[in-house]
Amino acid sequence: MTANDPIASLISLLSRLPGIGERTAARLTFYILEGEAQYADALGRSLSTIHAEVARCELCGNYGAESRCAICQDPRRDESLICVVAKVPDLIALESLGSFRGRYHVLHGLLAPLDGIGPDQLPLDALERRIASEHVKEVIVATPLNVEGEATALYVADALASTPVQVSRIAAGVPHGGELEFTDQVTLSRALEDRRAVR
Ligand code: ZN
Repeated sequence: MTANDPIASLISLLSRLPGIGERTAARLTFYILEGEAQYADALGRSLSTIHAEVARCELCGNYGAESRCAICQDPRRDESLICVVAKVPDLIALESLGSFRGRYHVLHGLLAPLDGIGPDQLPLDALERRIASEHVKEVIVATPLNVEGEATALYVADALASTPVQVSRIAAGVPHGGELEFTDQVTLSRALEDRRAVR
């Protein structure tokens, strides 16, 4: 990156985003440059404040502007049901169905011993505390249906074995290496409805 070449600099920064290659980064850069300066300004402001203005919810790990996210603050959500997801985009995919009325618990990762992500890195203590203090009856583990997602689901079920909650797992049928984020709504709805008790 040449520090004094603003075009090359923006292309280089954009090309680090997932799914954005050098050519797309160049196209976006020229779109921004040739578009309204106001838009570029707003985009820049949004980027520069997002880390300061968004925090993880103290209860569930979802993102929000306050210490508790909008879902945890919503009294209409069913306290007895918690859906465990690997990441916030998965929560958003489930929310877009409009049918799940429970709350969530975001792990922000999956068990991946080869990458050094062990059980200590997953916020299961927080989940156990929620089970003890909220009126939780069922925990649905909606981690991806791949090796790491399944290992994590078993680990969650083990960790909760001594609690009175029912642990269930979303049903198979989710394609794309089991990534919820990229699963169509019909398949995802069915995976949630057809969930099964773990052990
Ligand atoms: Zn929350």
